[in-house]
Amino acid sequence: MALFMTELTGTDLRKNMKEQALLQENMALAEWDQLTGMPVEGNEFRAELSSYLSGRFFQVATGAEAADLVKYFKENKEALTADEQALFDRYVKDYEEVAAIPEDEYAAFGHLTSEGQDAWTKAREANDYQIYAPALKALIETKKQFIKYWRKDEATPYDVLLNQFEPGLTVEKLDGIFDKLKQGIIDLQADLKANGTAPQADFLNRDIPVTLQREYVWDAAQRLGYDANKGRLDDTIHPFMQDLNRNDARITTRWNKNDFQMAVLGIYHEAGHGMFAQNVAEKWDYTPFNKGISMSIHESQSLFNEVMLGRSKDFWQHEYPIMQAAFEGRLDDVAFDDFYKGWMLSKPTLIRTEADPITYPLHIIIRYEIEKAIFNEDFNVADIESLWNAKYEEYLGIRPETAVEGVLQDIHWAGGDFGYFPSYALGHLYAAQFYHTLTQTFDVPALLQAGDLQPIIDWRREHVWQFGASKSPAAVLKDATGEALNPQYWLDLQRERYADVYDI
Ligand SMILES: [Zn+2]
Repeated sequence: MALFMTELTGTDLRKNMKEQALLQENMALAEWDQLTGMPVEGNEFRAELSSYLSGRFFQVATGAEAADLVKYFKENKEALTADEQALFDRYVKDYEEVAAIPEDEYAAFGHLTSEGQDAWTKAREANDYQIYAPALKALIETKKQFIKYWRKDEATPYDVLLNQFEPGLTVEKLDGIFDKLKQGIIDLQADLKANGTAPQADFLNRDIPVTLQREYVWDAAQRLGYDANKGRLDDTIHPFMQDLNRNDARITTRWNKNDFQMAVLGIYHEAGHGMFAQNVAEKWDYTPFNKGISMSIHESQSLFNEVMLGRSKDFWQHEYPIMQAAFEGRLDDVAFDDFYKGWMLSKPTLIRTEADPITYPLHIIIRYEIEKAIFNEDFNVADIESLWNAKYEEYLGIRPETAVEGVLQDIHWAGGDFGYFPSYALGHLYAAQFYHTLTQTFDVPALLQAGDLQPIIDWRREHVWQFGASKSPAAVLKDATGEALNPQYWLDLQRERYADVYDI
């Protein structure tokens, strides 16, 4: 029976959204369990469960009922409250993204992504990009076809992909932001190399038992604002935060007894994601404004913890003695200044996920420039590796010797995710702009030195977290800081911090 023959209300829309949200919560729980504690032999049954749940989700999100809701409320939007109208706009956007693709092509794309990931794994084992290139090419060709279905008034094909992850983002805007950022970082790197003194950082490899690391960093996460009664910490291989709902946002980490910085900054980071999830306004429960938060704004909050606070001298003035005590004397002979300088050591790496805060955006800019060449200039997929290597040499001054430490390091493209990488760099820039506004609002150095983070936590809740996905990232930024994205705040902050650390 077609629903729209009868009169529909906001309750019908909310009921459908809630069903989607409940299925998502189930999927999230199954995924969290799979990545943290599921027995090895549980794989096959779990794959069956996950595929059943995502199939159900697909039906609820795109089936006849969803089609009727979209059709009905497009004509009867006034039957919805203001909040529901905003939710409906998002609902339509999500619905149309999938509905625009013919069903058989959508299913074929699913197969291509699993083949892509398979080819990526095999290519990594053989350390040979050309094993992966044909599968990657097939994925790119399909994505180009999808862009034709999706494209409305976007200026270039790649704009269509950017928009899916970051509403309103364009190549034109990003080119301007990234060119400025790239030049600023390259200049700063050259300055540090020519005029700076690189700090000693051997103490970072001291033997700190995992039990001590765990105890310290779990307490630290709570000092940063993570609510332990609405979360937990588990071990995993690739750390992530999984939010089931605002009262259950779980974080994960990995440990190395000879590299405590990894778990400390890793947990600061995931706790930032968790704090966001724990503080979305109650009125968005069971809606896409709770689950569908854009990656860049989420990342700005994890990076706020990891970089804005976790690399701040003022913050560590208060935090370092606490960590020294928690590590039971193992850092007692490292004076504060030596600790902070070593903690900040900057060194170009080939692997994105191991990059320090200065060079990280360069890794993203390289991926952005390559994606743009693929989708806007039909760049030859077989030649991506040489383009990749040339750009690493040019921007970072180091050249991958092997495909594994170069073009084969990320799984994103193998899963069909293009246009996603820029969000990581935007997260850094947003975090710095929020931080700058905070320094104009409070005496931030004094607060950090006193370990009083509450005003900062409250500001972040009020200006960022509560909205969930109900505002676009650009609107959140504009309303919170009074201006559009400006990469200069990030550049100024890094220059100030690193000039201090490198004695320039
Ligand atoms: Zn993150």
